[in-house]
Amino acid sequence: MISPIKVAVAGANGRMGRTILPLLAADPAFAVIGGIGRPGSVGEGLIDRAAAIAAADVILDFTTGNAAAELAGLCASAGGPALVIGATGFEPDEIQRIAAAARTIPILRSGNFAIGVNILVGLVAQAARALPAHGWDIEILEAHHNRKIDAPSGTALMLGEAAAEGRGVSLASVERRGRDGVTGERPPGEIGFAVLRAGGIVGEHSVLFAAAEEVVTLSHSAFDRGMFARGALAAARWIAGRAPGEYGMRDVLGLTA
Ligand code: NAP
Repeated sequence: MISPIKVAVAGANGRMGRTILPLLAADPAFAVIGGIGRPGSVGEGLIDRAAAIAAADVILDFTTGNAAAELAGLCASAGGPALVIGATGFEPDEIQRIAAAARTIPILRSGNFAIGVNILVGLVAQAARALPAHGWDIEILEAHHNRKIDAPSGTALMLGEAAAEGRGVSLASVERRGRDGVTGERPPGEIGFAVLRAGGIVGEHSVLFAAAEEVVTLSHSAFDRGMFARGALAAARWIAGRAPGEYGMRDVLGLTA
């Protein structure tokens, strides 16, 4: 019999942590060694971060960009465990720290573990490749619950990256994060982001390709966090025992070819 994958969850008390821990506990492929809270926090089912790093095969992180980058460095210094990072809201230096850690340990990071969103990413790249920047404006809209602390969402940024990739440009060179005041006319080639925060919305994303006389809209709606959690479990099963490196959900789903 294959022994279960020993897992811990960082951000155990958060919305995603509370969704994912019961699913892990119910799945015989996993043995939950505990949840990780903020440094120094105590509670039922919580273990110390250092103890989790020493004992786990895989840690799933649903905290913040900053906390996830710090955890990646600590895991790499210890030579393991593997990391599945679902946290979003990274500064560029935090992305670099995760890339550095992935030279020592396997790290899978995705702003969205839902299968549908990862299919949508491929469709957005395809549409952006087909529709010329002169004549077709791309705008990304997202809506989330009022407790979310980062914007635009990690998923909106994934979709923006896919659109930019389809157009053969870097997102940083064309992105427009919100508009206010006298903004002037919209330059061709810009990729705009618009953000709503309201109530309990789990996650809504739309990508508009707008021409003068027609609009194509590709969109995804999330109804329940369970779908993110199940994708994260698939990611944890996939990454256990992998070689060091940076991976994404598209690797898990076999969408990279
Ligand atoms: P949340 O309810 O605010 O939970 C975040 C958790 O992280 C909290 O338990 C918080 O601790 C903990 N935390 C914050 N700073 C920390 C630190 N420095 N060290 C250790 N723990 C820390 O948020 P959520 O809705 O669960 O989302 C968590 C993250 O996952 C967000 O970045 C969100 O955007 C992302 N997310 C990703 C996906 C995906 O599919 N990839 C899906 C949904 C959400 P306290 O309880 O003490 O405050």
